[in-house]
Amino acid sequence: MSTKAGSVIKKKSKKQDVKDLAEKIKRNALLKQKQQQKQVEQDEEDEEDDHDKIEETTKETVINPDDELKFKTFHELKLVPELLESIQQMKFTKPTPIQSEAIPYALEGKDIIGLAVTGSGKTAAFAIPILQALWSAQIPYYGLVLAPTRELAYQIKETFDALGSSMGLRSVCIVGGMDMMDQARDLMRKPHIIVATPGRIMDHLEHTKGFSLKNLQYLVMDEADRLLDMDFGPALDKILKIIPSKRTTYLFSATMTNKIEKLQRASLHNPVRVAVSSKYQTADNLIQSMMLVSDGYKNTFLIHLLNEFMGKSIIIFTRTVAHAHRTALLARILGFSAVPLHGQLTQAQRLGSLNKFKSGVANILVATDVASRGLDIPSVDVVINYDIPTDSKAYIHRVGRTARAGRSGKSISLVTQYDLEMYLRIESVLGKRLPKDPSPSKEVLQALHFHVDKATAEAIRQTKDFHEKNKRKGSRGRDDKDREER
Ligand code: AMP
Repeated sequence: MSTKAGSVIKKKSKKQDVKDLAEKIKRNALLKQKQQQKQVEQDEEDEEDDHDKIEETTKETVINPDDELKFKTFHELKLVPELLESIQQMKFTKPTPIQSEAIPYALEGKDIIGLAVTGSGKTAAFAIPILQALWSAQIPYYGLVLAPTRELAYQIKETFDALGSSMGLRSVCIVGGMDMMDQARDLMRKPHIIVATPGRIMDHLEHTKGFSLKNLQYLVMDEADRLLDMDFGPALDKILKIIPSKRTTYLFSATMTNKIEKLQRASLHNPVRVAVSSKYQTADNLIQSMMLVSDGYKNTFLIHLLNEFMGKSIIIFTRTVAHAHRTALLARILGFSAVPLHGQLTQAQRLGSLNKFKSGVANILVATDVASRGLDIPSVDVVINYDIPTDSKAYIHRVGRTARAGRSGKSISLVTQYDLEMYLRIESVLGKRLPKDPSPSKEVLQALHFHVDKATAEAIRQTKDFHEKNKRKGSRGRDDKDREER
């Protein structure tokens, strides 16, 4: 974009346009919010009904990571020597909290609902009791483990193989994207344990001659919340209809949602529910939410949010220096008072930004994780994750900038199709699903997009200038470790 066009945007009339639009967007958002609130209330009522029914039949235990373990070593359990040998080889000296709670119930033959995230040791929590039972049964197609992704399926198979290495375990991984014929041949070798994604195993149940699960004794649904999210519902329903109803079922999930409660009712008998509370917790007075955005409209969504939160103190977090600089410029071009904070600014510039933000001269701070770390930033009203952080600790750190000292706060994450996997990982560590905020209507978005697009082009041009100047001066911030993506 030319400088001329950039300066046109700065003109007052354009600012007025944007302000008018902001008003319009606000009215629309309020209307939509009211409609959605009604729906949420209805859903909550349904959920409560379901919950009451479940509570009547389910025994529940919640464990804190620091609680005393039910058993201290695996030797205390009456496991077969081959299994103990493998556990020793894997150097599992003591059980993890989810194992300590779930394994004794599982060895009693109970169905289990485990609320635990990946990394808690949950795979061994369900694999050990299955292998213990398999040792005496020694029958093919004994256990089926369903997982939402290929990677997770392979990981689960590896754990089974390691734990079953001394007892001659045969296992197979049946996931999409691999050759059906090869898989059919593997299934004909009569494995004891099948780890699979639902769609592909359903394909084999329908098309592979000689393969059936009529003798199945154990069914595990791992990361059941994600299984349901990824639209495996119909395949799961079919599988549940085909396999014997007299079996043991384990359902593991990071979150207990309405859908999962329905699933557990359909397939479990008097289950015991065990939950490990997450060590990563966010404040109760923090309202966290997310907004699904298409990549090309991310800036438009951001400006829409800034309009929504007009006058509030806001920190926008970005992953890179370029994004932080560009976003602060974009907001400024569109009439907001925003300052950047990143590692390519001089120390004096950073302090300048921070002072403006602290004194209220600017109500928006656009910062990278690295630059904001360790800084004394006052509690703010809203945290916006413009880019999703690459790890959950950074997420907790970011949202911890709001809702401090008993004050309420809001955080909102902009999630594009490219961020979904990373975002789901964060949710799984949080142990809960965050509500989705309503998007502005298409028309409003289109109208706003026109202005935002123009301003973005100008912001990109100015950011390039800034980088060029910095290069010439050779004054790149030494303590900045951000990658510079564009
Ligand atoms: P999972 O949650 O099943 O993905 O397990 C996470 C990691 O913890 C894996 O690398 C396991 O090998 C490891 N692990 C599971 N149980 C134990 C244990 N009792 N002691 C030490 N490591 C374990």
